[in-house]
Amino acid sequence: MSPKHSIVIPVFNEAQGIEPLFARMRAVADRITQTERADAEVIFVDDGSRDGSDEALDRLNQLDARFKTLHFSRNFGHQVAISAGMEWATGDTVTVMDADLQDPPELILEFLAKWREGFEVVYAVRRRREGETPFKLWTAKMFYRLIRKLTHFDIPVDTGDFRLMDRKAVDAFLRLPERNRFVRGLVAWVGYRQTGVLYDRESRKFGETHYPFRKMLRFALDGVTAFSSAPLQLAMYAGTFTAAASFIGILWALYARFFTRATIPGWTSIMIVVLFLGGVQLLALGIMGEYLGRVFDEVRARPLYFVGRSVGFERQPHAN
Ligand code: UDP
Ligand code: MG
Repeated sequence: MSPKHSIVIPVFNEAQGIEPLFARMRAVADRITQTERADAEVIFVDDGSRDGSDEALDRLNQLDARFKTLHFSRNFGHQVAISAGMEWATGDTVTVMDADLQDPPELILEFLAKWREGFEVVYAVRRRREGETPFKLWTAKMFYRLIRKLTHFDIPVDTGDFRLMDRKAVDAFLRLPERNRFVRGLVAWVGYRQTGVLYDRESRKFGETHYPFRKMLRFALDGVTAFSSAPLQLAMYAGTFTAAASFIGILWALYARFFTRATIPGWTSIMIVVLFLGGVQLLALGIMGEYLGRVFDEVRARPLYFVGRSVGFERQPHAN
């Protein structure tokens, strides 16, 4: 039987981009069928789009039956959309790609060459990124270095979610039960033989980014909390340090009270201590809150997503 390659594309309000995306993807799918002698399927996961992307996607299946669409009942988020696509994909490999053509789909053919060499995860490494603000580039760089320091395994630096995975790695990934799906971290965590392919990331061809600063911060926090409890330890160290400092302060206060005649006005020192301790306590509480909130999400164990309808699939996946 000839192998089959799946490509998963999360889509959220990308109406203007569907047509150029379809044209490029169709060419890539043809290359897969012709030069690779394999089957191809392209799965769009419509993450609750409200701009007409859904209808545009549905039409594609009539033009080319290899193109299928899964419609979420509402917007569940990028990382969930990726996970859902992987669940519904039936290929021997599954490649995840953004809808905005920042990642060149032709790179998939290079991924496949690496896959044939025996690699089970092939991810794209950004050599250059066009059309991003210096601030986004800098924060992204800091984030990947921070997470590398905090975790005890390697999340490859400067990679996104553009990657190919072998069926073995996909099945391993799907067995991870967490609700907080920081996909690039989970994929690094499952292991297998992994390698990178260098590429230049282009700027968005249409529409605009769905990751403003606020969401990026959330995303970064998801990544850190999913793989490291270092912030909790940091809170403990800060607590230990302030407790030690307070102890010295107490000794000094007692000494001043009983052995010197200094009448201390006291306001400044009290304010400093109160504010400092209050700050440290709130910080520690905040860190615990971040973890607690995520623990709460995990215990509730709600389904990751709901499907409104699907177009072009032969059967439902096991998990839905
Ligand atoms: N996306 C999604 N759900 C969301 C936000 C984004 O499925 O809630 C999709 C979006 O359509 C795109 C991909 O995720 O295909 C990456 O989003 P975007 O390009 O906005 O992120 P950036 O490249 O700017 O980090
Ligand atoms: Mg993008």
